[in-house]
Amino acid sequence: MTFLFNSDAARGAVFAKVFASELPDLPFSMDPATVDPDAVRYLISWTIPDSIARYHNLEIVFSIGAGVDQFTMAALPPSVKVVRMVEDSIIRMMQEYVTLAVLTLHRQMPAYRAQQAARVWRALPQPQAAQRRVGVLGLGVVGQAVLERLKPFGFPLSAWSRSPRQLDGVTCHHGADGLDAMLADTDILIVLLPLTPDTRGILDARLLAKLPRGAGLVHTGRGPQLDHAALLDALDGGQLSGAVVDVTDPEPLPADHPFWTHPSIVLTPHIGSVAEPDSAARVVIANLRRHFAGQDPVGLVDRQRGY
Ligand code: NAP
Repeated sequence: MTFLFNSDAARGAVFAKVFASELPDLPFSMDPATVDPDAVRYLISWTIPDSIARYHNLEIVFSIGAGVDQFTMAALPPSVKVVRMVEDSIIRMMQEYVTLAVLTLHRQMPAYRAQQAARVWRALPQPQAAQRRVGVLGLGVVGQAVLERLKPFGFPLSAWSRSPRQLDGVTCHHGADGLDAMLADTDILIVLLPLTPDTRGILDARLLAKLPRGAGLVHTGRGPQLDHAALLDALDGGQLSGAVVDVTDPEPLPADHPFWTHPSIVLTPHIGSVAEPDSAARVVIANLRRHFAGQDPVGLVDRQRGY
């Protein structure tokens, strides 16, 4: 029985150390070339490797990241469990990033950056937080944590999920019908949805048109959810006033892509959060222990739903 680590060597070294001290009886390998394929029961990787068909006794594939949209699920036998990374640093860093992004838009930083470049010293009319409605698409582990972090600022908060949910101090909507109602009442829209067939391309011209004029967008889901041309049109036509974009399709963007230089876009290279290796290794070990005890791992993906 072997745990195969298939990612970068620096992170692998941390995993190897934690596994050696916490699960010394489980052989740990970072080298697919030398491992006995029949011994591989557990695999951690960013994508499904081409060699996957060789691992006949595979039980669990762990994603090294928060999402599993990059996995080719069809390559995995139905019996294999797929587990995403639910880890504290990912959650904490997303709280930081989204708070920074919401405040950037709320306090009109793109406009002040443009004024600075033009040597203009002028105060813009500034709404209070209580007048700035913030809505989150996706009310999962990260969406909920982000909303908790935003509460003290006093923004009216709302959220949208697939199934009905309740969160104190947050107006919750769900399903196709709930989306329009939420968008109509959202001045800053945060996207924290997994990428699935249902959410691919969801941020299109029709959706953006349902926001109040002058709204802002914080895109921290996955690149293929956003129609780039629709965002540019919405910004240039005044339907949106600004956007903070952490994920794009493709990543990285080509050098001539208009996002790089757009005055109303703050662009970051998918750095919203990363799993901290030591803590990620401990999360995986805790999940292996749950699996050995016959329990479902935390972050178990419903392969039918895609998240
Ligand atoms: P999660 O716990 O699986 O939650 C996903 C949420 O999205 C759930 O509330 C789910 O609804 C909702 N959802 C999924 N499909 C939907 C649909 N078709 N319509 C309406 N709601 C839908 O995931 P998470 O851990 O919070 O992470 C969410 C996503 O954030 C990740 O998949 C990733 O895309 C993004 N993320 C990005 C970064 C970054 O660095 N930029 C880092 C971390 C995460 P239900 O509650 O009804 O199931």
